[in-house]
Amino acid sequence: MFPATYEYLRAGSIDEAVAALAEDPDETRILAGGQSLIPMMKLRFAYPERLVDINGLHELAYVRRENGHVAVGALARHADIVASDDVTGAVASAAPWVADPLVRNRGTLVGSVAHCDPEGDWNSVLLATGATVVAQGPNGRREIDITDFIVGLFENSLDEGEMVVEVRIPVPSGPSGGVYNKLERKIGDYATVGVATHLELADDGTIAAAGIGLTSVVPYATKVTEAEEMLVGQMPTEELFADAASATAAASNPHTDVRGTEKWKRNIVDVYTRRGLASALDQAHASEPTTGSTA
Ligand SMILES: Cc1cc2nc3c(=O)[nH]c(=O)nc-3n(C[C@H](O)[C@H](O)[C@H](O)COP(=O)(O)OP(=O)(O)OC[C@H]3O[C@@H](n4cnc5c(N)ncnc54)[C@H](O)[C@@H]3O)c2cc1C
Repeated sequence: MFPATYEYLRAGSIDEAVAALAEDPDETRILAGGQSLIPMMKLRFAYPERLVDINGLHELAYVRRENGHVAVGALARHADIVASDDVTGAVASAAPWVADPLVRNRGTLVGSVAHCDPEGDWNSVLLATGATVVAQGPNGRREIDITDFIVGLFENSLDEGEMVVEVRIPVPSGPSGGVYNKLERKIGDYATVGVATHLELADDGTIAAAGIGLTSVVPYATKVTEAEEMLVGQMPTEELFADAASATAAASNPHTDVRGTEKWKRNIVDVYTRRGLASALDQAHASEPTTGSTA
């Protein structure tokens, strides 16, 4: 199917993109990789009157470490994240699971975050890792905690005329690890179940910070605060992880469909949370500086 008629504008700067958005926010959409927007327009689920193409803004095509976080610009493709040595933990683990190579070469993390698809992989990972979204609008730049950015099904908290310019993922200073476990029917598919886990350890070996995010088994990407709170301040043990996994499964709200029953999906959430926490802990131990090193 063909999309409805629209006006096309290629932005020459961020300011130009923001000005075009602010002119008619209800009828204007940013075009990044087009891997969600174009299919939606072809299916006539979306029919914006104007697209503002940001693909000429090469200054936004970066994945880099700076000031204690990894910064991902609005034009960094999923494939750039797969290739980056700067990302670790749950983010590095999730990148190869997003779609297939064709989509990864074109689609962007920021586009996926802004799109807020409940089956998109990135938002649960960013909830687990405590990311921040940087938005720019007619009134300048502001930072939005990812928990405040995701407000519903295909719904973010951007103000009228704002676009996302960057996502910032904190880099823990101590031992840490994280994993994204995804169950998909076939390679490149959206998640039947997705669980992101993230752990940071204190000097005494207790859990200093924990993050758990869910994909596809909740109405929209959700942070499982109850389970995170059970973990923080505790010594990591199998029993503790089992309790946190049960709490995560209880907090999920899967539906029976062609991909599986509600009960089966909830069980996968439990298993993936336990596995994810165990892998995150292994990574955290491996990332601890070893004494007596001559390096
Ligand atoms: C065959 C196929 C399989 C897929 N499988 C998966 C999968 O397994 N997992 C997964 O997570 N995703 C999957 N996707 C979705 C896709 O990876 C992402 O949703 C997509 O990459 C989003 O990024 P984009 O740059 O293409 O955004 P676009 O399609 O260009 O835009 C998406 C939405 O975000 C808005 N937007 C984009 N950039 C900005 C910005 N900087 N500021 C404000 N708003 C913005 C647009 O206006 C639009 O509303 C799949 C897509 C396809 C076609």
